[in-house]
Amino acid sequence: MNSLPLTIVLATRNPHKGKELTALLSPYGIEAATLASFPGAPEVVEDGKTFEENARKKAVQISSYTHLPTLADDSGLVVEALGGNPGVYSARYAGEKATDEENNRKLLKEMAAVPPGKRQASFVSVIAYAEPEGEVNLFRGVIDGEILFEPRGAYGFGYDPLFYIPSLGKSMAELAPEEKNRISHRAKAYRNFIDFFAKRSKVRRCSL
Ligand code: IMP
Repeated sequence: MNSLPLTIVLATRNPHKGKELTALLSPYGIEAATLASFPGAPEVVEDGKTFEENARKKAVQISSYTHLPTLADDSGLVVEALGGNPGVYSARYAGEKATDEENNRKLLKEMAAVPPGKRQASFVSVIAYAEPEGEVNLFRGVIDGEILFEPRGAYGFGYDPLFYIPSLGKSMAELAPEEKNRISHRAKAYRNFIDFFAKRSKVRRCSL
C-alpha cells in the first residue's frame, strides 16, 4: 500500500501564506509548491461577485497552467449592516491600492451610525481545489464577530483590529498568531479541505 507523494500547487505569491499552508498539508504526505516555483503562471483577475467564483477561477486557471492539482483561496469581511460589504472587495474597499489603515478608516466611517447590537460581521474564507482533469471542490470557513468602534490589538493584518469575537472577549488582533490560526475562517476552510482529502485518499487506497 504505497501512496505516492502528491504535489499540490498553492495559488499564492504570498510567502507567508505559502509557509502556513505547507505546514498544514505536510502531515498528509502532500508536497506543497507555491507560485514562486511557477514564475510564468498567469496573473488571475479576481473579478467574481462571490468568494466562490474568485477561488474557483484562480484554482482552475492555475491548475490548467501547471497541470497539477491546485488550491486557491479567497477571503474577506462580510458586514451585515453594510449589506455584505466589503465582501469580495475587502482588499480594495477604500480604493485599488488601499492600505489596511485606509480600509479600516473607511469601515469605521461607514459604521459610525450603526449602534451596538447591530454590528454583526463575519470573516469568510473559501477554498477551491481544482484537479487538472476538471473536478473542482469548494470548502468554506466562517468566524462570526462584531465590528468595534475603535481598533484593538497589534497582531494580525487587515481588519483584525476592528473584529471583536464575543466568545473570546478579544479582537482578532489581540490573538497571538497560533491562536488565530486555530480558530480563523481560513483554518476552518482548510480543515474542511483536509477532512475531504483524507477521506478520499483512504477510499482510493482501499480500492487499490
Ligand atoms: P485574501 O483573499 O485572503 O487575500 O483577503 C482579501 C482581503 O480580506 C484582505 O486584504 C483583508 O483586507 C481581508 N482579510 C482576509 N482575511 C483576513 C484576516 O484573517 N484578517 C483580517 N482581514 C482579512
